[in-house]
Amino acid sequence: MCIARLGVFESEKPAVIVSDTEAVFVDDIIQDWNRAELENGAIEKIKALDLSARPRVKIADYRLGSPVARPTKVICVGLNYLQHAKETGATPPEEPIIFMKAPDTVVGGFDDIIVPPGSLKTDYEAEICVVIGKNALYLKSPEDAQNYILGYTISQDVSERHWQIERSGQWVKGKSFPTYNPVGLWIVTADSLNPHDVRLWCSVNGEMRQDSSTSDLIFDINDIVWYLSQFMELKAGDIINTGTPQGVGMGHNPTKYPLGGEVVETGIVGIGTIKSHVKNFR
Ligand code: MG
Repeated sequence: MCIARLGVFESEKPAVIVSDTEAVFVDDIIQDWNRAELENGAIEKIKALDLSARPRVKIADYRLGSPVARPTKVICVGLNYLQHAKETGATPPEEPIIFMKAPDTVVGGFDDIIVPPGSLKTDYEAEICVVIGKNALYLKSPEDAQNYILGYTISQDVSERHWQIERSGQWVKGKSFPTYNPVGLWIVTADSLNPHDVRLWCSVNGEMRQDSSTSDLIFDINDIVWYLSQFMELKAGDIINTGTPQGVGMGHNPTKYPLGGEVVETGIVGIGTIKSHVKNFR
């Protein structure tokens, strides 16, 4: 199953994608794809419906919002692709590097990225994003983690390298500007995608910058969910950016940072493509 939220920002309605171009609203059954509804069996309720009996709408007639209502947590894994760790000059980590970004950075997959005043080092990071389906705490094993994953979507973990690296302290500084986390277009549920060897890529103005596979992950998705649950409770609707492969703007010599005016496209085979225009704050 493939689930989405359609409508204007912060008034999106929950829907199920039923074809390449069509969706069915389910807002008469559940309030939203949010924590409360997911904890209350939203997926099972919608799976039990006869969707063919419902009116279809054209996806293109709506804005695609973040496919999960604003998560309480946006958790990120750093330096989690072997080739990306090498391009940054870092030693591959022995344990996952974890940081967080402000949840209100999350916008829809076609929404603009707004570069803050004076930023010269805004960077792109294509990532496969895990959406948690039910509360997870102190899981016994990575295998166990699979039972807590709702599904997968595409995340663009936009990063301002000056604030992330040159201003001392935690990476959260470079990660939390408004609009710095386009997510979408929809969530492919875990029963419909094997995430362990899928191609993910990112282009800027059509030039391919990142092109890799989740097979290069140092800590795989089940490892990450299990690991996080050892020191925090993952809640339904939380999202996890699992790390980005090589080819970020910082990894080029000279660096290739979007400054405003570019189009950033991010894709994962089996999920789709998101696309953001980079604009300057004014
Ligand atoms: Mg990242």
